[in-house]
Amino acid sequence: MRIDILTVLPELLESPLNYSIVKRARDKKLVEINVINLRDFTTDKYKSVDDYPFGGGAVMVMMIEPVYKAIEKLKSEREYDEIIYTSPDGERLNQKMANKLSMMNNIIILAGHYKGVDHRIREHLITREISIGDYVLSGGELPAAIITDAIVRLIPGAISDEQSALYDSFQDDLLAPPVYTRPSTFKSWKVPDILLSGNTPEIDKWRHEQSEERTKRLRPGLNSGD
Ligand code: SAM
Repeated sequence: MRIDILTVLPELLESPLNYSIVKRARDKKLVEINVINLRDFTTDKYKSVDDYPFGGGAVMVMMIEPVYKAIEKLKSEREYDEIIYTSPDGERLNQKMANKLSMMNNIIILAGHYKGVDHRIREHLITREISIGDYVLSGGELPAAIITDAIVRLIPGAISDEQSALYDSFQDDLLAPPVYTRPSTFKSWKVPDILLSGNTPEIDKWRHEQSEERTKRLRPGLNSGD
């Protein structure tokens, strides 16, 4: 899979995409992630990628041209399944969406900045708009990193079978069961006896019951698709 991220601030994406599972997936060549600087697509001598908004207002808007040129260049090299714009008013990211995106071959993620991107880009080039939640961040770089992380950990081979993403929250519309590690007793806080029993079928049953109980209590709408 290939993910191309377009941004005016590539530095913001360096750390989130270079550690842990995402880094290992990149090292194993399961995913190719390219962070592309939109300033490389401007002819402006100051490398500006933003301008004042028509109609007035102090906060700048991302200009069409650098974004258009970057997307057209990528599209001339390969076909893309989705061209995503990160936006607070987009579809809310969830696990089902991440599952679907993880099965794609090539995607572009455009990270917005300033007041957002010139709306004509959204109307003519973007195929999908994704929000990471109902709050406004300063830029789309962290949302792009979050979307990428959610996708990459689902690519087969990115995480081992034991850590399988199938047991994570939201797969099967259930929250994950609680997890514990050594020591089995800390002060008077004990790990549930069942986890120390070595009885795998009973442990699996307990975990499933815990998942169901936690889902009912903490996220009762989850099974109904809310
Ligand atoms: N004026 C925009 C609005 O009210 O919808 C917000 C602009 S925000 C300061 C700059 C950029 O950050 C947005 O264009 C978007 O790309 C990104 N962004 C901010 N919050 C986001 C969120 N919750 N989900 C996805 N992207 C977000």
